[in-house]
Amino acid sequence: MGWSTEQDGAAAQGGHGAEAAGAGPDEGVRARPPVALSPSRASDFMQCPLLYRFRVIDKLPEKPSAAATRGTVVHAVLERLFDAPAGERTAAGARAMVPGEWEKLLAKRPELAELFAGDADGEQLATWLAEAEALVERWFSLEDPTRLEPADRELYVETVLESGLQLRGFIDRVDVAPTGEVRIVDYKTGKAPRPQFAEGALFQMKFYALVMWRLRGVVPRRLQLVYLGSGDVLTYDPGEADLRAVERKLLALWEAIRLATETGDWRPRPTKLCGWCDHQAHCPEFGGTPPVYPLEARPADGGGAPQGRMEAI
Ligand code: SF4
Repeated sequence: MGWSTEQDGAAAQGGHGAEAAGAGPDEGVRARPPVALSPSRASDFMQCPLLYRFRVIDKLPEKPSAAATRGTVVHAVLERLFDAPAGERTAAGARAMVPGEWEKLLAKRPELAELFAGDADGEQLATWLAEAEALVERWFSLEDPTRLEPADRELYVETVLESGLQLRGFIDRVDVAPTGEVRIVDYKTGKAPRPQFAEGALFQMKFYALVMWRLRGVVPRRLQLVYLGSGDVLTYDPGEADLRAVERKLLALWEAIRLATETGDWRPRPTKLCGWCDHQAHCPEFGGTPPVYPLEARPADGGGAPQGRMEAI
């Protein structure tokens, strides 16, 4: 198949920095029950229901992360690179865009300055920018942007399933072949997962594929994840059965979220990922106490808490 003008069907995949959880304090915003599901927040709930609550309902602030911020800058470069004519999309040009995209991001989110607060001589910032430039450069070994004309970049998608569940998110890149076949591409600045964890990585892509299918009536031909950290590409060609299975999973997940929202019963699920969690001070697993639940809650029925069924989802 030919994707735009790219001929080899090389893998690409995306990630986006547009939906970083806890990107900043949300003080003064009244807590509301969740109304929609995105891939990131669905993953949060699957990882740890209490983490989902802290992010979505309590909206607890989280410290900026150098890695996540670098990812946002890299994504911005890979998006804006396509503003230039095909012949000008060079690795050197893309690298040169990194400092400017960082400055733009910093202007929008001044709190990110704290990432380099103790960096008097600018050495840490220089290293961090060089790492971002290296990730951008690696992308050129995976795809050739002079032969690509994306149909969409950083595409916001949203749909409501028949059940009433609203799904939404941002897709890094959508390519459409002359034959009309659609490829969904996501960039990841980390390393590719080991094969046994590939399914988790594909969950986000299948989520987007389901939304695109519902929006446009066509199942995307290919899902591609481009891992800039390791220089790998993971691809998957979904079928309708895959996407129906994802829909069932999302409906079950949403039901568990709805029950937890109503009852206020959000259980911690400790894993080694707790090491990256900003909320240990509020987490009972680490001796902390969650904030007062900001929504009205009814007592949980007998028969097990919603998270009790998580393993079956
Ligand atoms: S520390 Fe671990 S168990 Fe506690 S909220 Fe964070 S992810 Fe969940």
